[in-house]
Amino acid sequence: MAEKRDYYEVLGVPRTASEDEIKKAYRKLAKKYHPDMNPGDKTAEEKFKEVNEAYEVLSDAEKKARYDQFGHAGVDPNYGAGAGAGGFSGGFGGVDLNDLFGDFFGGFGGFGGSSRRANTANAPRKGADIRVSLALSFMEAVHGCTKTVSISRQDACPACGGTGAAAGTSPETCPDCHGTGQVVVQQRTPFGVMQSARPCTRCGGKGKIIKTPCAKCHGTGKVSSPKKIEVKVPAGIDDDQSLRLQGLGDAGANGGPAGDLIVIITVRPDPMFERDRYDVHVTVPITYSQAVLGADVVVPTIDGKVQYTVPDGTQSGTTFRLRGKGIQYVNGRGRGDQYVHVMVEIPKKLNKAQREALKKFEDSLKEDNYEQRKGFFKSLRDKFEGK
Ligand SMILES: [Zn+2]
Ligand SMILES: [Zn+2]
Repeated sequence: MAEKRDYYEVLGVPRTASEDEIKKAYRKLAKKYHPDMNPGDKTAEEKFKEVNEAYEVLSDAEKKARYDQFGHAGVDPNYGAGAGAGGFSGGFGGVDLNDLFGDFFGGFGGFGGSSRRANTANAPRKGADIRVSLALSFMEAVHGCTKTVSISRQDACPACGGTGAAAGTSPETCPDCHGTGQVVVQQRTPFGVMQSARPCTRCGGKGKIIKTPCAKCHGTGKVSSPKKIEVKVPAGIDDDQSLRLQGLGDAGANGGPAGDLIVIITVRPDPMFERDRYDVHVTVPITYSQAVLGADVVVPTIDGKVQYTVPDGTQSGTTFRLRGKGIQYVNGRGRGDQYVHVMVEIPKKLNKAQREALKKFEDSLKEDNYEQRKGFFKSLRDKFEGK
């Protein structure tokens, strides 16, 4: 296994970063390295995985605390496997580092104010949440869509039903710890005999012993399986919002519920539409004579093209509002508005005849044709002349 980078370094935040700062850094990087934004870029894909892994740990208070204290070994059951790091190896009868650390902290009581009881070996535990990013086009976000995301999920092993014991057998209560997962150790010290609880080594802190491990999951009770999950994205969802799909995360332990699947939405910018909450802004270029004479112009909306009558004498930069033509509220009834910004485009590269025609037209205009210029030159005279 290649040297793993520090999770804080991966997200580019200091170890003192707040929950909010971690979240912000994650979103920024997840967007930057998202496979949809970097098709075929292996380096970006690796970075994306690294960033997600770092966030999965640093966003979970319990995992973060373990990571802060023990580094990668505290959160990754495979870390250092085979190298004998810390004495826990992946192949040790399905020992789960989470269980060991859970008991370790529980046994010594003083861990982060956690209210864990000393005996957590058999307590039902919720499975881990899985986070996945989903990039949508502007229109997909606005109208809602159904998308498929690929995840790798820890499911209860189908061969043993999650017990880890081979078919026809079942896990037995550990005779050393009587199922508590812990043994009490007495130690003679200068202050007298001290008692402390240690994870039971016979059962690895599980409280149960599997004599014949299930061949499919090697006694872990879990199998990692790639899954394709259909995600229904509601109309009106915006960048940086997320959907929580309950029970689609990793399987729980000891009968605990499965974790959730959290889908974090990124919305790609659109060349034509700009979004502001539930309002949509569009800039429509019109010609000089359309602005002068008025015209029916075609305006794009999220529901398709509409015709809009620009009145004569429309100034560049004028904004019109199309009520209720904006975006559907994501969790309710009603819609935002669309704002149409009119921009008068000045023609370039005129030929001689066009220049002359325009000059002739310009010469025919009077001061009264220009309200703003009239006012402007009057102020100019008042300010600087006769003083
Ligand atoms: Zn199994
Ligand atoms: Zn035991």
